Amino acid sequence: MKEKSHVIITGAGPVGCVSALILAKAGIHVTLLEAENDLPLDMRASTFHPPTLDMLEELGVVSEIIKQGLITPKFQYRDRADGLVAEFDMSAIAEHTNHPYRVQAEQYKLTRIISGILADYPHVNQKFSSKALSLEQDDNSVTVYYETNGETESITADYLISCDGSRSFARKSLDIGFPGFTYPELFMVVSTKDEITDVVPDMCPVAYITDPEEWCAVIRAPEMWRFLIPTNPEMSEEELLDEDFLESRIQGFAPKSEKYTVSHSTLYPVNQRVAETYRKGRVLLAGDAAHVNNPLGGMGMNGGVHDGVNIAKKLVQILNNKESEKLLDLYDRQRRPIAVEYVQAHSIRNKKIMEEKDPKIRRQRQDEIRAVRDNSDKSFELMMQVSMINSINKSNATA
Ligand SMILES: Cc1cc2nc3c(=O)[nH]c(=O)nc-3n(C[C@H](O)[C@H](O)[C@H](O)COP(=O)(O)OP(=O)(O)OC[C@H]3O[C@@H](n4cnc5c(N)ncnc54)[C@H](O)[C@@H]3O)c2cc1C
Repeated sequence: MKEKSHVIITGAGPVGCVSALILAKAGIHVTLLEAENDLPLDMRASTFHPPTLDMLEELGVVSEIIKQGLITPKFQYRDRADGLVAEFDMSAIAEHTNHPYRVQAEQYKLTRIISGILADYPHVNQKFSSKALSLEQDDNSVTVYYETNGETESITADYLISCDGSRSFARKSLDIGFPGFTYPELFMVVSTKDEITDVVPDMCPVAYITDPEEWCAVIRAPEMWRFLIPTNPEMSEEELLDEDFLESRIQGFAPKSEKYTVSHSTLYPVNQRVAETYRKGRVLLAGDAAHVNNPLGGMGMNGGVHDGVNIAKKLVQILNNKESEKLLDLYDRQRRPIAVEYVQAHSIRNKKIMEEKDPKIRRQRQDEIRAVRDNSDKSFELMMQVSMINSINKSNATA
């Protein structure tokens, strides 16, 4: 039996949790299906950009994520050989956000905070060990079949938001294309709890270091410093994950005589892909289910949360205020081009800049970024762009 005003969400990642909270606050029944037996402890995204923080403020969870995170107003562009190139301070965009800084906090902190709040809503059903398998839909409802404790069960609702990550069961079930490409090299994150500013005193908590052989994005999370680097496709995973090799990666960016203690490492393939549509009937794709990109610029989870907020608010308008389902197509028009023209374009460009081999072009790029730093209009524009405020403004302006 279909309940009234009921939305199924598959995946209790950051996008699924944020979407569920918006619907729950509006009194809509939510079933959140999560394949794992608990919230995943993902060492993945760790950057919350200003507009995402503004959205989390509206949901009443920003103070907790700030409490568990690290406020970082500044970011740097550096070169491995030449050191600091330019530093930017996001306080310059304070008129456009309540949070003119990034907060560094791991994504699992957000899902834990929200899941705890959802537990208090009687009309929210968080079902773990429940893996969505397939779906059926007609003009009035959508039914999701899922596996739990070795049995297949089903649930029917008004709409489904598929937030179940890059392998989205719904995208596959509905045969929605996911064109793009996979980088030949694996990316690696090596983390240490050792203090990097003891070795490189001017290293900012967010620093992009260009190098023709081995570029690096340095991110300080609250508990550790994380180094995101490319790997050599000719090396085996065993060689890449060798402890001495991992330690030597950190030495390469912050050399010291003692050894670093490696606290954590991850090796993963990176794709640049956007789904051909974000809507098919009563099924909506959001987050990694709809788009994936390299982590340079921290736009994956942030862009996904922006999708989740957009579509959840539209479903509230449709289900509670009887607004037209045309809003679902507007969701696609507002969010898909952002993924293609903004997130894909910038993340691909960021990687090209980081790994540029031609010394002349590298110098030219360094001169350009210094010129941006020295021009207040240009540096304001850069910060509006990297903070993702421009992308939100563009998305909201699309009718
Ligand atoms: C190393 C790394 C660093 C990153 N750094 C950043 C960063 O700094 N900033 C940023 O914005 N992004 C970053 N990203 C990207 C970011 O992690 C993702 O974009 C983000 O997790 C997407 O959130 P999501 O909720 O869409 O999907 P996910 O976080 O992938 O969550 C999907 C959930 O769905 C569940 N699930 C899967 N299949 C099913 C199913 N069939 N049924 C039910 N449940 C299912 C999964 O268990 C999971 O809990 C990084 C990624 C990596 C790998």
